[in-house]
Amino acid sequence: MQSLEALARDARALANGEVVLNAAESEVARQMQICNACRYCEGFCAVFPAMTRRLEFGKADVHFLANLCHNCGACLHACQYAPPHEFAVNVPQSMARVRGQTYSDYAWPPALGVLYQRNGLVLCMALALGLALFLALAAMLKTSIWGAAPGGDFYAIFPHNLMVSLFAPIFIFAVVALGMGVRRFLKEVTPATSGAPVGGAAAGEATRDALTLKYLDGGHGEGCHESDEAYTLARRRMHHFTFYGFALCFAATALATVYHYLFGWVAPYDLPSIPKLLGAAGGVSLMIGTAGLWQLNRKRHPSHGAAEQKPMDLGFIALLFLIASTGMLLWWARGTAAMALMLCVHLGAVMALFLTMPYGKFAHGIFRSAALVRNAVEKRQPNTLGLGSD
Ligand code: SF4
Ligand code: SF4
Repeated sequence: MQSLEALARDARALANGEVVLNAAESEVARQMQICNACRYCEGFCAVFPAMTRRLEFGKADVHFLANLCHNCGACLHACQYAPPHEFAVNVPQSMARVRGQTYSDYAWPPALGVLYQRNGLVLCMALALGLALFLALAAMLKTSIWGAAPGGDFYAIFPHNLMVSLFAPIFIFAVVALGMGVRRFLKEVTPATSGAPVGGAAAGEATRDALTLKYLDGGHGEGCHESDEAYTLARRRMHHFTFYGFALCFAATALATVYHYLFGWVAPYDLPSIPKLLGAAGGVSLMIGTAGLWQLNRKRHPSHGAAEQKPMDLGFIALLFLIASTGMLLWWARGTAAMALMLCVHLGAVMALFLTMPYGKFAHGIFRSAALVRNAVEKRQPNTLGLGSD
């Protein structure tokens, strides 16, 4: 329940036409006030140095800091004011709640922001299987779903142009929706983070921090917390397997598109072609990464995150694993009677990923990268507070 003081503050802010923080944002602001007096965790990550540049925490500051937090858990395990202390400081959890809310707040089109709350494990799997069934029924109009296609040719089941006309609009919409969402986020947080433009050095630092997941090292290089007090680099490594696996698979598809349109070299490709090498390495890496992240997510200490976001996390991980594993199985099934069915399951999973991408866990990488960019810009500006050691 809000205190009388908090209600009076909100009433004053409303009367002055200021933006009022909701309960989750107010909780982050309250904890940041305590942390700003304590500052014990200053070396853990980018959040605490950014915090010290502020005395007040408005909506944009809270949204920026929440997306800058990598949820490593280090500050919770180090905190002398963590529950059961009456200050009840739990920075990872309060940041996670606001972070999840920002994805909905900045979603494009805004009316679809509500989908973030519905995007869970069951929905992702049902969507993937439903689409696979639809594709299987469509394929059966033309050919048998159980029987080898001549030469293991995917296009004998779904012609190339049909696949492009199905996937391209969904993919383009996902990219535009994510781009518009992060644009709305940056429009809000840029003035709160100095407003300075992005220079080459800041862009380089943010790219390095994002690609190495610098802030999952706990600030000392030994890693973050999962289920207990022990440090581990497992989450950082599994994220790397997942991200770079996904990037390799994407590169394989992009190169295959160039082969098709520029050189007329039609898929499927065999070893040792470059698309096949990229796809195989990416598929294995994605399977290892997502299997590891699933395990870590299940074991994670419940105090670290927001329980209501777990289904969205698991849905995204499961979809990526399904794509990678069915992609590898499709390679094995090529030329066998199972190929058409496996192709339908694989394409159904890919289509489900594209459909859920702008309103699911995928957004965390985009928003966090944007926050890292603004952080790299802000830290290069003079600190306007000019307090003592600062
Ligand atoms: S999380 Fe706790 S220990 Fe760390 S700065 Fe905040 S109050 Fe201090
Ligand atoms: S959970 Fe980790 S990344 Fe987030 S504020 Fe705490 S120390 Fe920083």
